[in-house]
Amino acid sequence: MQKRVLSLRLLVRRWAFARAKAATRLIGKYPFFAGLSGTLVATVMAILTYAALYEGRAEELRHAQENSRNLVQLISNDIARNVEIYDLSLQAVVTAAQQPQTWSLPEALRQRVLFDRATAASRLGGAYVIDATGHVKAAHSSALEATDASISFADRDYFIAQQRDPQAGLFFSKPYRSRLRGGVLTIGLTRRINAPDGTFAGVALLGVRLDYFQQLLERIDLGQGSRLFILMRDGTLLASQPPSLRGAGANYADLPNFAIFSRRAVGSYTLQSALDGVERIYTFSHVVNSPFIVVVAPAVEDVLAGWRRRSYIALVVTTVFGGAWVLVSWVLAFALRDKVVAEGELMRLAVTDPLTGLANRRALDSRLAAEWHHAVRERTPLSVLFFDIDHFKLFNDTYGHAAGDEVLAFVAGRIASGSRRATDLAARFGGEEFAVVLPGTALDAATRVAEKIRKRIESDNLTLSGTHDGCVTVSAGCASCNPPVGGSAAKLLAAADRLLYEAKDAGRNQVRSQQWTGEGAQPLVDSEDGTRGRDAPATRG
Ligand code: GH3
Ligand code: MG
Ligand code: MG
Repeated sequence: MQKRVLSLRLLVRRWAFARAKAATRLIGKYPFFAGLSGTLVATVMAILTYAALYEGRAEELRHAQENSRNLVQLISNDIARNVEIYDLSLQAVVTAAQQPQTWSLPEALRQRVLFDRATAASRLGGAYVIDATGHVKAAHSSALEATDASISFADRDYFIAQQRDPQAGLFFSKPYRSRLRGGVLTIGLTRRINAPDGTFAGVALLGVRLDYFQQLLERIDLGQGSRLFILMRDGTLLASQPPSLRGAGANYADLPNFAIFSRRAVGSYTLQSALDGVERIYTFSHVVNSPFIVVVAPAVEDVLAGWRRRSYIALVVTTVFGGAWVLVSWVLAFALRDKVVAEGELMRLAVTDPLTGLANRRALDSRLAAEWHHAVRERTPLSVLFFDIDHFKLFNDTYGHAAGDEVLAFVAGRIASGSRRATDLAARFGGEEFAVVLPGTALDAATRVAEKIRKRIESDNLTLSGTHDGCVTVSAGCASCNPPVGGSAAKLLAAADRLLYEAKDAGRNQVRSQQWTGEGAQPLVDSEDGTRGRDAPATRG
């Protein structure tokens, strides 16, 4: 078992090593891959960081929304509980007021019967019994002193509503300025008092100062740009934190926000305020059994302040390190490219003849061997041309070596341009001798190529006095095999060389070609002085 684990580990290690080697090779071949992959890694890291930050932002907003919901619920519950208590107090007042005996009780006792249960609520703005004509008939002791029986409340909305509708139940008035308590903004919670025969006998009223709502909000601190509101369903503002421009009691039904509040019982959404342009997360809830709406609206800016600070640091770190990473990988890529270019140049120089720019002997040998194998494998013809400049020694002797070099380069250019296929290879064999490898070319076509090159050089008419033609000419041997059988690449080349010397012997400036069958050619051998030895030296000159 342990052995198996070990061999598995070995396999994994070998696999990883092979992959690393392949990656190194790939980068060595395409240096910009290092820069690109560095950039890709940095970009992916940056995207992941930004995505994490963005998720953090969403989380922060979700959290703020949850907090707002809890807060709204807390305030709503507080109001709902108080409304319930006030209603019970009102019901007690109504019950007592509807008993005819209540009104024949002595003053102090009547007070207790009527308002005992309303004591807590009366602190908020007084508790009253108003008669059918709209005048105060009784008031809780805390409001007794300020009570003026001559003032009529018959014009108040609550009075009219209760008078008109026996089924009005618990009625919440709009905010009004109290006539008994120096104009304090108040809303009235009322219930109808019936006479024994069911006719309207007055109203039980509990005043609730708007301060009560304001105090509820003042205890909460959500941040500078944040807003808290308590509204009525008709758009009347009861309290706000901070205090609103239009003031408590003003109507806000015209704002786009209010349209959303009034449509649903609870909700949460983000919107830019129509009043100050600040983007806020609005969370609202209708208070049960009452016309109140509680709204909590922290500013997005406040909610995200902490997140922004943290993100800023992460962003700077990611950008700086990511940028440095990208920079380093591109510097590496360029350094690597320079190295690859230099190596390529070295390789090129290693296979190029510096004087003529053609392939050198080394390149010729390896290419010829490769083409030979290819031709054997694919059963395609292969031809080799061998060129030698006629009387070149004489040219050197007459015009000097420098001019000789120029002619060499010129002839090399003619030979290179004469063989035009991409697979053809023209090479300087040595001295003033050149070879051309023509893969996939049969004898006829190869002879035509050799003849074309010879003619072009002749027609260039480079003066060489003292010769038969009076200009620079070349002789060529052309050996083809189709497909190559037996022998070797070197022997094919030697056959072309033999044909070249036949051309020399026949008077120069001509091409000798032959279909080679693998017989009669010995490989060419370099002698120690760098010139080429032959088995059967041809007579020249
Ligand atoms: P043939 O027609 O029989 O070929 O006569 P040849 O004079 O060309 O033959 P030979 O092989 O005797 O002379 C070759 C000459 O080519 C010898 C040398 O002066 C010249 N040569 C070889 N390499 C270079 C070179 O790189 N530059 C110059 N200028 N001459 C070279
Ligand atoms: Mg020669
Ligand atoms: Mg020569």
